[in-house]
Amino acid sequence: MITAIFEIKNKTSDIVEPRPLISTRCYISPHKYSFAELMESLIKMDDDIEQERAAFSMNLEANRLATFKDWPCDENCNCTPDKMAAAGFFHCPTENEPDLVKCFVCFKELDGWEPDDDPWQEHKSHSGHCPFLSMKTKEDWTISEFLKLESQRQQNRLMKVVQAKIKEFQQHAQEVREQMELLA
Ligand SMILES: [Zn+2]
Repeated sequence: MITAIFEIKNKTSDIVEPRPLISTRCYISPHKYSFAELMESLIKMDDDIEQERAAFSMNLEANRLATFKDWPCDENCNCTPDKMAAAGFFHCPTENEPDLVKCFVCFKELDGWEPDDDPWQEHKSHSGHCPFLSMKTKEDWTISEFLKLESQRQQNRLMKVVQAKIKEFQQHAQEVREQMELLA
């Protein structure tokens, strides 16, 4: 659990007045929500940090392989957990996509795997510019190579975050525009 994120001034009140101590990330307004909502937000923040930590560790093949413990494809398939992890993928299933995987560098998501699919070839055909594909297949990289890959990975990650924020903003703008048109 995260501790010391907020200093709670008035513990007897239902509405708290948190003051950021070590983080600039705040999901809720301190003046509008209850203590229960604040705690829920802190737990969500904790989960997000855990997810980021777990995502960072996907740069090791052994960690990627460990995510495939509930891999739905048969042992006789070509797309085995070993080949998936070696091709840069980790398993991130959803309710509707039990075989969803994601590349830890380009963040390309793929699902709907067929028994004959070759993970490396699928990665290449759907995300040919991924920097991981031009690395040595075994992780005997030099520190320089690792840092270069990590730098490209973080750029890709940041772009994903920015694109999601832009999409979110555009959706919100559209909603506001529709509401304004109703007033006209
Ligand atoms: Zn990739």
